[in-house]
Amino acid sequence: MLSKYKDRDLVKKTAEKIEEVADAETLRIMHVCGTHEWAITHNGLRDLLPENVQVVAGPGCPVCVTPGGEIDALCRLALEGGVVVTTFGDVLRVPGRERSLAEAKASGADVRVVYGISDAIGMARQETGREFVHFAIGFETTAPTTAVEVIKGLPPNFSLFLSHKLIPPAIQYLLESGAKIDGFICPGHVSTIIGADAYKDLSSKYSKPMAVAGFEPLDIMLAILNIALQNRKGIAYVYNEYARAVRASGNKIALGAMEKAFQVSDAEWRGIGTIQSSGLRLRQENIKHDAEWKYGISAVGGERMPEGCSCGEVLLGTLRPESCPLFGKECTPERPVGPCMVSIEGTCAIAFKYSDRRLRSQAE
Ligand code: SF4
Repeated sequence: MLSKYKDRDLVKKTAEKIEEVADAETLRIMHVCGTHEWAITHNGLRDLLPENVQVVAGPGCPVCVTPGGEIDALCRLALEGGVVVTTFGDVLRVPGRERSLAEAKASGADVRVVYGISDAIGMARQETGREFVHFAIGFETTAPTTAVEVIKGLPPNFSLFLSHKLIPPAIQYLLESGAKIDGFICPGHVSTIIGADAYKDLSSKYSKPMAVAGFEPLDIMLAILNIALQNRKGIAYVYNEYARAVRASGNKIALGAMEKAFQVSDAEWRGIGTIQSSGLRLRQENIKHDAEWKYGISAVGGERMPEGCSCGEVLLGTLRPESCPLFGKECTPERPVGPCMVSIEGTCAIAFKYSDRRLRSQAE
């Protein structure tokens, strides 16, 4: 049986309701989730919305916001330090300032793709004569898995290069940036961990409607409808559209593991800059497993995008990928120039996948 959340008629009726309710000249709604961007583009939801309702993608793809300096530091560790670097598949092709991990691998570095941190730990336990560094990226969705392994205990030849990032501080940064954003669609899977209440203070402090949404077409349209309604009434609160998966207080076990393993720190977001309290570091008792401490490396500062790349604007929702001069020409998923074209959750990669076939054939 077709889920009601995929029902085309219900989606269309919700779009009609949005048109009826959205009385602002322009209602600009941001989401911060690669999966939402994929669902919106894949299902053609933007085409169903009235012209005055815009849904823009913010920094919702962890691969896209991974600083090039971190990639460079890992490449050097693997190439010059003889260290085994493990990470997820889509991180490999992310351009650093000097090279990507895939290029380092092609030059002889031992860079291995793993499905999860436990695979990397398994390798380290088997190859005790080698040093392993696992590059842990992702938002609150993946951070608990890393935390659980830290709590269980890491092998002596294993360290972590932590690049986990937190979503609420990024939303706060966007709200303080002065950009016109009338409401936020909050990410469903991050919210299963942190809970819908995690956005309450932000919504009330900045008077911004927010809606936690699932990933089916109707989930997203209902979230947009709620934000339009809140906007019309001049009120702001957090609506939990995804109550079938997200609790108000989140997943207490996962949050407890993160609290035990990590401390909050400032973090650099590629294309954006440093966002206060938006990252995670190992607690002092596990400092010997912190790759930056162990190898005396620092990847912070001087972040810049590749020449001609507009990923910074794409990540802040001020530019659609198609408006980047390199989109579909010099920059394609096969030959990415910027990080937003690498991951399947990258805004540019998604736009390219669903863009006009003519554009794609021009690029081939
Ligand atoms: S099309 Fe490529 S170069 Fe342009 S913003 Fe997107 S990823 Fe960056």
